[in-house]
Amino acid sequence: MTTNQELFEKAKALSNHKQLTEEGHAGYVGSALLTEKGVVHTGISFSGACGIGYCGETGAILSMLKTGESKIKKIVAVSNDFKCMPPCGRCREMMYQVDRENLNTEIIMGDSTITLRELLPERWQQLWE
Ligand SMILES: [Zn+2]
Repeated sequence: MTTNQELFEKAKALSNHKQLTEEGHAGYVGSALLTEKGVVHTGISFSGACGIGYCGETGAILSMLKTGESKIKKIVAVSNDFKCMPPCGRCREMMYQVDRENLNTEIIMGDSTITLRELLPERWQQLWE
């Protein structure tokens, strides 16, 4: 079983900012997730001009989706100063829209964890469910 510390270290190793062009920046955030089947996927952020931006978590989630899995057991995002970051609102929604069971996903926040359910207690989809 991959530990929280191992996931943190994988995300930390990817949190390595690189300016690609005048506008484009990669790697302000690195992310690693563990799927229900025990596979690790990683991603990095990209930010640019014209409203272009993708979180590190997005990259890791898309990597997971390529393999047909959708259930995230644990996820971590690490900033360039090597601190754990909670997912932004868009990533919280993405995890929920990828798989409803991801409400049980553990988000690693250093020495503690918090579930997606705690970060996303009220969901707009409930209006129609
Ligand atoms: Zn995000």
